[in-house]
Amino acid sequence: MLNPPRSLRAVYPGSFDPITLGHVDIARRGLKIFEELTVAVVRNPRKEGLFTIEERVEMIKEVFKNEPRIQVESFSGLLVEFMRRVGARAIIRGLRAVSDFEYEFQMAVTNRTMEEDVETLFMMANESYSYVSSMMVKEIATLGGSVKKMVPPIVVERLRAKLAPPRRAVRR
Ligand code: ADP
Repeated sequence: MLNPPRSLRAVYPGSFDPITLGHVDIARRGLKIFEELTVAVVRNPRKEGLFTIEERVEMIKEVFKNEPRIQVESFSGLLVEFMRRVGARAIIRGLRAVSDFEYEFQMAVTNRTMEEDVETLFMMANESYSYVSSMMVKEIATLGGSVKKMVPPIVVERLRAKLAPPRRAVRR
């Protein structure tokens, strides 16, 4: 359905630094409920990441290149403003553990206070990925471990390129 009504469009916002298989799973499951989903990478000047916003968007686009119902964008400022711009009323977030709850609850209430029309829907993490976080992925990759089971292949590649030790000049 091209240009679905607001009720059929959702936004999945996050840092996605980088996108993990847990994120991919939530987005794909979201598509079973909504006609269109916008994965929205938050530009947060106070939170510097490993990947630039452009790199994150590019990786997510690569992951969903065969899924025309998923769009990928970045935004700065208020999420509710962004929602208005893309014409969406639902926010999708994933919940991994009780520890996610407090922050998510606060965000959901704050967003609804600002825009009473906006609803946040939570999806329970897939049990295979409930231990996966972008933070853990970065730590493991930095220490030289394998993250193949946690992130899409493009992310494995990009992590390797980003974290590769600088080449030393060979002395003869
Ligand atoms: P943020 O900085 O906004 O928390 P993240 O990229 O860490 O951004 O996460 C975006 C959303 O995806 C959050 O709702 C988070 O709880 C959820 N999420 C993160 N990792 C997973 C996972 N492994 N399984 C399911 N949901 C996840």
